[in-house]
Amino acid sequence: MAKILKNNTFRLITALILGVIFGGIMKFLPDWMYVDDIIVNGFFRLLGNGFLELVKMTVMPLVFVSLVCGVSSFGDTKKLGSVGIKTLTVFFVTTLMAIVLAISLALIFKPGIGLNMNLVSQNTQYIPKQAKSVIDIMLDIIPSNPIKAMSKGNLLQVLVFALFFGISLGSVGKEAEPLIKIFSIINDCIMKIVSMIMAITPIGVFALISNTVYSIGFESLLGILKMSIVVVLALVIQSFVVYGLIYKLFTGFSFKKFLKNYTKIAGIAFSTSSSNAALPFSMEMMEKMGVNKAIYRFVLPIGATINMAGTAVMQGVSAVFIAQAYGLDLSLSSMITITVTAILASVGAAGVPGVGMIMMTMVLESAGLPVEGIALILGIDRLLDMLRTVVNVMGDCICAVVVAKSENDISIKA
Ligand code: ASP
Repeated sequence: MAKILKNNTFRLITALILGVIFGGIMKFLPDWMYVDDIIVNGFFRLLGNGFLELVKMTVMPLVFVSLVCGVSSFGDTKKLGSVGIKTLTVFFVTTLMAIVLAISLALIFKPGIGLNMNLVSQNTQYIPKQAKSVIDIMLDIIPSNPIKAMSKGNLLQVLVFALFFGISLGSVGKEAEPLIKIFSIINDCIMKIVSMIMAITPIGVFALISNTVYSIGFESLLGILKMSIVVVLALVIQSFVVYGLIYKLFTGFSFKKFLKNYTKIAGIAFSTSSSNAALPFSMEMMEKMGVNKAIYRFVLPIGATINMAGTAVMQGVSAVFIAQAYGLDLSLSSMITITVTAILASVGAAGVPGVGMIMMTMVLESAGLPVEGIALILGIDRLLDMLRTVVNVMGDCICAVVVAKSENDISIKA
């Protein structure tokens, strides 16, 4: 019994369940208890957001340092090229599969047909943000000032700079070895900080989930239940069928064991809704599983920033749902546009809560669909964001193991 209570996964799942229960209870507490002021925006905000801020503190240095370590330790650029191409191929193929799956399921189950939009909550007005053009998105990736990119938290730009820096460091030769060693020590140091934060994870998760459940309006959930079921179905198929098959086929390892290891990371991705926040923890998981350091230090930070199959699922289903809700027919060319822009939007979406929905503007605009339609989904986005983040992070971990196995760089331990 004492062993179970000490088990991190058990503590995390218990915190999640208790958080859901307590969040539900808070909805019914009387006004005189000042739930909003004292619990939700007071104590729980301190615990939940405090935990998030602590994790975020590690993310930026970790992305930079781990990628520099990963890239520089490949030594020869041939190996880096091979790992890089495999990583991007797995990311691209699995995201494409996710979006095709999402659009197909939405066309089969037609969640938006017959939706009377007047019944949807009155207060869900959506003011569309100006969508970025594809060229702007591409230009945005170049870090004209790497220090500014770091201070502003622009992970994609930091990633690009780390790639350049890592490649050059690796190619300098013997003289650069002490610096590579220092980067490796800094990396271990940051991972130690992560282990410390790990100790309070259940408390942070409990507070975050309680507040989320409390703030989600049940009414707005009901109206779009059908669409949510389609998203969940697509996410489940993507996780267990697409990723399960790819994992089994390309590694031969037990997917059940992978899932067992992944439970804890899933809990963190779910409660934080952030691929970035889950990154330090997925690195720990890869280390435990015996994946080569250079590989996971390369694959995971890139994955947390650009690989979002879960987000692509959400965008595919939402686009078809909105078209159906507005009674618009989708031509083949608009479906192809949705596919291409959803892939780009998932690449451009940062691994933080809610961005998937903002990037949705770009998908809808390109496909000529009404951007105001996003209002239909806003009420449930928080919840679906939690689920899609679990799939986003899972995709990164699967990719790291698949690439490591193909390079014979894994000595599976767990
Ligand atoms: N929250 C997601 C993630 O961090 C991104 C999104 O779809 O909003 O992976």
